Amino acid sequence: MTLLVHKYGGSSVADADRILNVARRICRDRDSGADIVAVVSAMGDTTDELIELANTVSPNPDPRELDLLLSTGELVSCTLLTMALRSLGYQAISLSGSQAGIHTDTMYGRARISRVDPDRVKNELSRGRIAVVAGFQGITEDLDITTLGRGGSDTTAVALAAALNADRCDIYTDVEGIYTADPRIVPEARKMREIGYMEMLELASYGAKMHPRSIELGAAYRVPIYVASSLVDAPGTLIHQIPDLLPDGEHSMEERVKVTGIASQSNVAKITVRSVPDRPGVAAALFEPLAAVGVSVDTIVQNTSVERFTDISFTVTRDDLALALREVEGLIPSLGASGVVSDATLASVSVVGSGMQNTPGYASRMFRFLADGNVNIDMITTSEIRISCIVRESDAAEAVRLLHRGFQLDREDG
Ligand code: ASP
Ligand code: MG
Repeated sequence: MTLLVHKYGGSSVADADRILNVARRICRDRDSGADIVAVVSAMGDTTDELIELANTVSPNPDPRELDLLLSTGELVSCTLLTMALRSLGYQAISLSGSQAGIHTDTMYGRARISRVDPDRVKNELSRGRIAVVAGFQGITEDLDITTLGRGGSDTTAVALAAALNADRCDIYTDVEGIYTADPRIVPEARKMREIGYMEMLELASYGAKMHPRSIELGAAYRVPIYVASSLVDAPGTLIHQIPDLLPDGEHSMEERVKVTGIASQSNVAKITVRSVPDRPGVAAALFEPLAAVGVSVDTIVQNTSVERFTDISFTVTRDDLALALREVEGLIPSLGASGVVSDATLASVSVVGSGMQNTPGYASRMFRFLADGNVNIDMITTSEIRISCIVRESDAAEAVRLLHRGFQLDREDG
């Protein structure tokens, strides 16, 4: 029997009509004989509104209370969807994250899934029911409710698909799939038919609207993930393991498509620690405390030391800036550094493609395209399949257009 996990984002369940639309789509797959687990996000902007409400009653809401509050958003959408399914004559049951067996660590607001105990969901499926699961949430060993971080319902869905050994995880959203760049920035961006996990992970980490942890899980457990629209019936994008070393018959031996897409992220903040003594252990002393509070650090640049002192700059998401600054400021005396400055008006633009790694010239072409468009580069990092530049936020959209055009991604054969 085919088992599908469907996931519907906030805009797909934004109001009663959309919830009924989602219910009908689930019924369609159910009619074709598949078992269905549906994971939902909170309706529309519910999560933002709940956060705002919390900030209105308290300048610094308690993390445990905030997570329990935010978890209610997904409870609303999953119970309403279940009622809609039942009204259409289908057997369905709603389950909170904890009822669905999503166990997490205790990092409120950014909890990570420690294990999934899928027995209850399996049991419901075996009784012929559609299981409708509240995304974005889990439960600790001490029975406290946690949330997985913004956009975390994708990760709930893929984790369940992995634990249930589902045939596929379908992510239904308000776009038709994964594009070579954000189509709102680049109108000529192309929708991809398929993309490999690793390239998608880079695109998601650097701007494509999917929770990167869901792609990591998909890759680790080999869950094929299909991204498509919940509103129109158009072919979407399949994220899966692409045997990219096999000849595909279309390209000559070493002429495979090399740049897959351009990602951008506008919520980048940079922290610079000034005049840090250049001795062993300093970087560890700086970054260990940040990791301990759950701040993930991205681009890191340490300058060559002058007179045995150096500046260390790194980027974090803007949401993490206040927390990261608080930690770093506390460390300045023990590090023996002279001070810390920050800039919250930055963005990153990235070129992603698995074919780039052994081909010279991609980085220099990227810098040329940006230079010719008069975009200044603040920091640069590379991975095997990505080159990222930190630029001013006000330059980011133009930078994406320059790179999309420069690497000719509007053409089918890139
Ligand atoms: N409702 C949560 C959020 O807005 C989780 C999600 O949408 O996946 O971040
Ligand atoms: Mg949402």
